[in-house]
Amino acid sequence: MYYGEKKIEKPIRWAMVGGGKGSQIGYIHRSAAMRDFNFDLVAGAFDIDPERGREFGKQLHVDEDRCYPDYKTMFAKEAKRQDGIQAVSIATPNGTHFEITKAALLAGLHVVCEKPLCFTTEEAEELEALAAKQNKIVGVTYGYAGHQVIEEARQLIAEGKLGKIRIVNMQFSHGFHNVAVEKNTASTKWRVDPKVAGPSYVLGDVGTHPLYLSEVMLPDMKIKRLMCSRQSFVESRKPLEDNAMTIMEYDNGAVGYVWSCCVNCGSMHGQKIRVIGEKASIEWWDEHPNQLTYEVQNEPVRVLERGMGYLAPSALEEDRIGAGHPEGLFEAWSNLYSRFAQAMDACDRGEHVEFWYPNVHAGAEGVRWVENCVQSADQGAQWVDYK
Ligand code: NAD
Repeated sequence: MYYGEKKIEKPIRWAMVGGGKGSQIGYIHRSAAMRDFNFDLVAGAFDIDPERGREFGKQLHVDEDRCYPDYKTMFAKEAKRQDGIQAVSIATPNGTHFEITKAALLAGLHVVCEKPLCFTTEEAEELEALAAKQNKIVGVTYGYAGHQVIEEARQLIAEGKLGKIRIVNMQFSHGFHNVAVEKNTASTKWRVDPKVAGPSYVLGDVGTHPLYLSEVMLPDMKIKRLMCSRQSFVESRKPLEDNAMTIMEYDNGAVGYVWSCCVNCGSMHGQKIRVIGEKASIEWWDEHPNQLTYEVQNEPVRVLERGMGYLAPSALEEDRIGAGHPEGLFEAWSNLYSRFAQAMDACDRGEHVEFWYPNVHAGAEGVRWVENCVQSADQGAQWVDYK
């Protein structure tokens, strides 16, 4: 159980790039980072529009002279201060992630970057190498991965409760973009523009989320080859897809499916993962995040509830409120930000943490998966060996 005790000696001096007023994801970054007093928001380049960003920063209690017009000015000016920033979160559209993460690492900062980390495996490998060289942490916000029942699923699988894994069925399939909403919505407009969004839309925007959940639950399984079919049901989105199905073969003989979609009419979020072994299956759905279904063949279905004493100790460590009360996105993100802070703090003391969190390698794996999916889809849904 976590009662809010400090996890690191002093809060990390922290800034944001992006996540300004009206952005979709800025608020969750701030509330997750600051919830457990691990980070102090002391600076920011919050908006592509400098004036709007400055006004918004003031509303967030950031000193006016530390609300910067752009990230380059911020990194340069903060580096000159005794009390300059130690870490930065990047919550801007996809096309800027590589250059801002690179600049932040070169400025000696720890980074939390939104997915996708960048567009190509080559860029991802460059960032991984740079983070190692600079001895800095890069966290990537696959937010729901911080939910406690994901850790429970990982433990159940590790204990062999499912037996040998055969099938991993994943989806993130919502219906909000069933028509060309991008004509009137700025945050969807850039998502369907390859210059800003990168080589994919839904594969990178939503598909990588359950994919990362599978990597947490099944850390030893590696993709051997995959095939992907993608479509643009709203024609103006071509060449970017609004629906895709990926089939994967793993090195242990298991198969995986990822349905990535934003035209699934009526579906709110539809992020699910079902792991099927030879003895039993587990299933988790982000719209009911406090429940993990555990189904043993020929036995009644069990619904494991977050916070209950029968869960693995590691799935109870971050419990904040006890069973019964619903926890969700905010707590999952807070747990991740808490792990990022502890990893950054340990790194600064020449140590490292033992627990998992979505790090620079996880970010790179998401980029690699999208790249392989796009290659397969653009060759007419051919099988491609996973590179
Ligand atoms: P958005 O378009 O709603 O907001 C983007 C924000 O960034 C705006 O405030 C904009 O002014 C600002 N901005 C743009 N370019 C900038 C720059 N160069 N410098 C400073 N600020 C800049 O976008 P969004 O939906 O919030 O998405 C942002 C990122 O977060 C994307 O990469 C997206 O994939 C990711 N995202 C992740 C999740 C998740 O669950 N992890 C959910 C939603 C979005």
